[in-house]
Amino acid sequence: MYLKYEDIRRVSVEITSRCNAACPQCPRTDNPILPAAELKIEDIERIFPQEFCSQLDLIYMCGNYGDAMTSNTTIPAIEYWHRMGVPQIGLYTNGSGRNPDWWRTLAQTMTGEHDTVTFSIDGLADTNSIYRQNTNWDRIMQSVNAFIQAGGKAVWHYLIFEHNQHQVEAARDLAKQLGFIEFVPKATSRFVAKEIYDKESANQQPQKAENSQVDAKSDRPNQPATTNASAPQNQTQTAVGLHQQAEDCLRQGQLSEAIAASQQALKIQPNFAAACKTLGNAFQGLGKMQAAADCYAKALEIQPNFPEVYANVGSLYAQQQQWQPASAYYQKAIELKPNFAGAYRNLAKVLTQLGQPEKANYAWYQAIAIETSKAPEPTRPVRSQPASQELQPPSLEQYKNPQGDQFIQAVETFGSLNNYYRNVEISCQTQASKDIFISFEAELWPCCWVSHTKYVIYNDTYRPQMLALIEKYGDGFNSLRTKSIKDAIACDWFREDLTKSFSCSKRLDVCAHECGKTFNSTGSQYI
Ligand code: SF4
Ligand code: SF4
Repeated sequence: MYLKYEDIRRVSVEITSRCNAACPQCPRTDNPILPAAELKIEDIERIFPQEFCSQLDLIYMCGNYGDAMTSNTTIPAIEYWHRMGVPQIGLYTNGSGRNPDWWRTLAQTMTGEHDTVTFSIDGLADTNSIYRQNTNWDRIMQSVNAFIQAGGKAVWHYLIFEHNQHQVEAARDLAKQLGFIEFVPKATSRFVAKEIYDKESANQQPQKAENSQVDAKSDRPNQPATTNASAPQNQTQTAVGLHQQAEDCLRQGQLSEAIAASQQALKIQPNFAAACKTLGNAFQGLGKMQAAADCYAKALEIQPNFPEVYANVGSLYAQQQQWQPASAYYQKAIELKPNFAGAYRNLAKVLTQLGQPEKANYAWYQAIAIETSKAPEPTRPVRSQPASQELQPPSLEQYKNPQGDQFIQAVETFGSLNNYYRNVEISCQTQASKDIFISFEAELWPCCWVSHTKYVIYNDTYRPQMLALIEKYGDGFNSLRTKSIKDAIACDWFREDLTKSFSCSKRLDVCAHECGKTFNSTGSQYI
């Protein structure tokens, strides 16, 4: 169970999806699928009855996509929560908006002893807007002054980049002068994740346009380094080179050459699962089904969690019109690699043959959703281009994310990001702190990380997994417009499936990324 209703102590509320800024690494920036929506005071009053408020220690507004400052619900909501007995309220903002009167009213509304507004200010007058684009330094200072002078308690969060690392101490001094109660430098983890994503993309093989083998995507799960760590380096290089040659031949339809090169690679490195798979593909291309099956069996013996091989075995069965085992193998491939569009596509064909049109439609839908989620990918470079020269991680050692190297090493040890996501031990942070999250669409989620995947376009797996989750439990299964928190948290997903997923490979990638035990991506930011 994620949490019992009566055990919830903290609620994170994303009151709006709107924001005036355009920070280059924010998931809202240049996001064409993000709806503009926000909670109204009627939503707040319905979602937070007094008996629920009285069990809470804290409500905080730190969303994924919006800045609470932009919402007209924010001040009435804070007033309401305090009236209902919530002892502590927190709010996070870029501070570049509203007039001083609004900030004074906010300060007078935040009457709890530990209420705070956290201003995210990443630099000084000449540097803050390099990341907090569209913000204005003078307006921020006006907001800060109005809030602090009206008695508000302000915290300064300072995200460190190369372009502002020289100003950390000056900002600390300024924070003191202005009356901030705390100054917190943060070493962002986003560059670490980007480095991993970039490496993974570079390792990907070009995908075939139409391929019943659904195998062209990647050999990442079993790069030789993980299949035979003791092999001498020069031998590994040769085996890798031969395997690459085999793959090239396979792509060009030179099946005998592909077989020869794969076999040579396997002579040098017998436990090279990817070469077994390529050899199997070449045999399959020649119609030598038993030889192909033997190769796939060997690949799975070496690398039991190799999704592409499961898909290929599925294709072997499909070619022989053995639809049941074909379906089972495709499903296993998807279980291991939830963003495997090709496996979904082939599964859809097999389910049609099995006379299961609804399930086939769902599989088609998943394949399309995954492919569609990849379609906007060009926005990634577009988005990062303008800031790419200026936006770099800090070069000074003391400001680098302390767990960054650990994460990179962990992914390397697991052999690929996909393997890491499927297998790393998960320790759910918000379950431990008794938190829940309410989105700007009034949906109940365990945390901001899971919630944000609904509209993510910077990642290939997060959104397809979220769409599959919504499809499985039914649109609105967690809607606080139709259900109380008590009822929503009693649904199957919160009651059982979410926490069960932490100990199997069907977990959400975002859970492994944020709460995998080797890397605390946000906690490690505070230095
Ligand atoms: S201020 Fe926050 S919500 Fe707004 S664009 Fe920047 S990171 Fe995103
Ligand atoms: S992302 Fe982390 S905190 Fe959120 S539900 Fe998953 S494991 Fe829990």
